[in-house]
Amino acid sequence: MTQFRFQLGTKVFFGKDCINNNKPEIVKYGKRAFIVTGRTSGRKSGALDDVIGVLNEAGIEYTVYDRIENNPSLENVKEGGNEASGFNSDFVIGIGGGSPLDASKAIAILAVNDIDPFKLLKNEFTNKPLPIIAVPTTAGTGSEVTAASILTIKDLQTKMSFVHEDVFPRAAFIDAKYTESMSYDVAVNTAIDALSHAIEGYLNRISNIMSDLYAIEAMKVFRECIGNLLDNSLDYDARERLLYSSMLAGMTIAQTGTTIAHGMGYSLTYFKDIPHGKANGLLLSEYLRYNSETAGEKVQRILDVLGFKNIDEFEGFMGKLIRNEIGFSTEELRIYASLAMKQRSTLKNVRDVTEEDMFEILNKSLMENK
Ligand code: NAP
Ligand code: FE
Repeated sequence: MTQFRFQLGTKVFFGKDCINNNKPEIVKYGKRAFIVTGRTSGRKSGALDDVIGVLNEAGIEYTVYDRIENNPSLENVKEGGNEASGFNSDFVIGIGGGSPLDASKAIAILAVNDIDPFKLLKNEFTNKPLPIIAVPTTAGTGSEVTAASILTIKDLQTKMSFVHEDVFPRAAFIDAKYTESMSYDVAVNTAIDALSHAIEGYLNRISNIMSDLYAIEAMKVFRECIGNLLDNSLDYDARERLLYSSMLAGMTIAQTGTTIAHGMGYSLTYFKDIPHGKANGLLLSEYLRYNSETAGEKVQRILDVLGFKNIDEFEGFMGKLIRNEIGFSTEELRIYASLAMKQRSTLKNVRDVTEEDMFEILNKSLMENK
């Protein structure tokens, strides 16, 4: 019929109170837990308290490393890795948005491998990483079900990912109550990140019938939340659907990875501090126009599933959710295009991409009448 490769490495617990309802699944990885979280997300979401409650009950020692930056850098995860090693950690629990979850993957490796963190990018480590548990507090990255970690590399002025099957979280506890404390802006930006995962996974050279199933379902569920996103009525039900959609989109990119919207978006985040999901979202309409030249049917299917007649209508919807308020120069966009060409994921875009194509997408998205 067809050939495909499909791998999911994470046991998923989804739904309200899933941590308290599955305590044995959290305490079975050892006696010393290293908790990785952001400055506020663990506490504000309530997830940190729930996790600590379960660890205390089971007599598990823990320490909380709550210094993960947004878009964590190599230096940030190296410091966390040193602390995790010093604590003799048996396992790592990541709590937060994509930043702490991605950081927990790097820390799980660095805790048992005393290496220059740059080596993570080439998977140059020998000891098996510590087991990881993931508790998302945003509904966007899907990092709780992927083996990818995206880190900021200051020397290269960009973000880069590493992927290793040993950092698939062993378990993910996915509970929408932890996303209720997100601001509307974070909710919108992260929802757009999830949507771009589904779309970029679908318009991906290595997509297959299985990854497409997840991508299409992620988009169907996203569609059910469009009204809530537009009129800022994110009740519990809508937040749970967005979290489910984000998980499905994560399962998609666990097979395919992302492509050029992410690759170009990294520069918008690195140089202009635009949040990750918004950075992708600002480029998504032009990205669809560009890819419709070679993958017209698939682009039309995306629009159909999302409930838009054409790309203009999709662009109108995105324009209601996010606006670019930042100025760019042509020279800056040329640098971003050149950096994006160096991303491994560029090769997976469904249409062959040149640096000039990237520049055009950036220019149309960010400069022309926007
Ligand atoms: P984030 O950077 O983890 O968090 C953004 C902001 O939201 C932070 O200020 C954070 O606070 C706050 N926040 C998070 N959850 C909250 C909650 N429940 N209540 C209140 N505030 C909350 O954002 P993200 O978009 O989820 O993750 C982005 C990162 O993930 C990027 O580095 C991106 O490259 C990466 N990513 C990874 C994958 C993958 O497959 N692994 C895919 C896509 C993106 P704190 O600072 O206090 O935490
Ligand atoms: Fe993303």
